[in-house]
Amino acid sequence: MRVGIVAADSMMGRDTGSPGLRKARDYIAAELARMGVQPAGDGGTYFARVGLERSAYTFSAAVRTASGERTLTTKDVVPLAGVAGVPGLPRPTGEGRIVYGGWAVDGAVAPEGELAPEQMDGAVLVMRFGAAPDAGRLARQRFSLESLWGPRSRLAAIVIVADAAMREYWDAGIQSLATGAVARAGSLTPDSVAGGPALLLATPAEAERLIGRPLAGARQPFVAAGTLRYQLRSSVQRVEAWNIVGVVRGSDAGRAGEYVALGAHYDHVGVGIPVRGDSIYNGADDDGSGVAALLEIAERFAALPSAHRPARSLLFVWHTGEELGLLGSEAFTEHPTVPRDSIVAQLNVDMIGRNSPDSLYVVGSRRLSTRLGDVVEAANRRQARPFRLGYALDAPSHPEHLYCRSDHYSYARFGIPVTFFTSGLHADYHQPSDEPRTLDYAKLARVAALIGDIAGDLASAPERLRRDRPMPPVGEPCT
Ligand SMILES: [Zn+2]
Repeated sequence: MRVGIVAADSMMGRDTGSPGLRKARDYIAAELARMGVQPAGDGGTYFARVGLERSAYTFSAAVRTASGERTLTTKDVVPLAGVAGVPGLPRPTGEGRIVYGGWAVDGAVAPEGELAPEQMDGAVLVMRFGAAPDAGRLARQRFSLESLWGPRSRLAAIVIVADAAMREYWDAGIQSLATGAVARAGSLTPDSVAGGPALLLATPAEAERLIGRPLAGARQPFVAAGTLRYQLRSSVQRVEAWNIVGVVRGSDAGRAGEYVALGAHYDHVGVGIPVRGDSIYNGADDDGSGVAALLEIAERFAALPSAHRPARSLLFVWHTGEELGLLGSEAFTEHPTVPRDSIVAQLNVDMIGRNSPDSLYVVGSRRLSTRLGDVVEAANRRQARPFRLGYALDAPSHPEHLYCRSDHYSYARFGIPVTFFTSGLHADYHQPSDEPRTLDYAKLARVAALIGDIAGDLASAPERLRRDRPMPPVGEPCT
């Protein structure tokens, strides 16, 4: 079984930049060569290089008061460096007196009283984040987060109290210290980032030690008794990463220069915190299932005699770095190995082997092209056993925002009509227990057949698919 091979223990969870992911890469390329799928990466190879870099951090901090100096550990305070959603690299050192600042609410900071600008200058500002009690009574919004965090900030550091709402950031901070953070090349190098103050999380108990009184009683901002200093050193290394790209050429000379793209991500999250003694996050469903489906579809079309192939070409892209924030698909769509406007549509396959046998979620199919949505449904109706297509995850109001969270979004942002196919989330999602034996292989094969049919329909249609829906304005957050 292909999924078994792609999710094998020897690949150690296929973290981007790891030897395990290289094994997966070589396996996929060898399969493409065996099937006769042509290379369509850089310089006549299957590989399109993605420039990434990994930053490693070392952190130390200490508090000084009248009674002496106390070293902080990462049990008490964790820096949010290299964590998704936290901007840039902070200044490597900082020191200042500790000031309690009140609550940060909805992107603006609203201390419940006066804190003079000179009290803020050079301070280590301890803040709470989230829904403040009786928020209606908050005085006024005096500082934007940008002015607090940004390179021009005059704060020495920002310490956010890590209550329950900040739990995932705490874990991400610990993870980033342990393994570093991977990003597109150039985005972490110090000269491309003018550092702001370090953003630190402190346990509520440590925050109370820092400000010298219980948080429950700390309503008004005030200047506390001690000073805090930190060191946060970073080093940056190149990470070798590749998308894998193959093409099955179209049969019509006039249309073979247009491509129906299919994608799946062959990276996963690697080795992590052990759960019941298992530390390898296999990613069988996420996204071994999509990787295997793409191989099946590629094999199906490569096996056709050339005259029987669809008119347009089929472009298969196995993306890297998806789990790090769609980095591989972002790079591919910025520097595609075929002209970007020759990509007619993109079909993304991520997690298709779980949940009830006849259910399949479809995301984004009518967001840019109504006809794409029609093509998907018509192909489904032709299946011997059609799926119950679910659109619940496509609603912009859905809390999971899946439309923004897998590789198709990188294509959609350029106006390329996309459809994302998934059988949905489950209890083994991003757990070591996402194992090959949990997959419904019959379902996986049926989903691959359906997506292959849709790709064939799009590639054979007399008219290329056109966008007939407005693009969301540039810069608008994805929903
Ligand atoms: Zn995934």
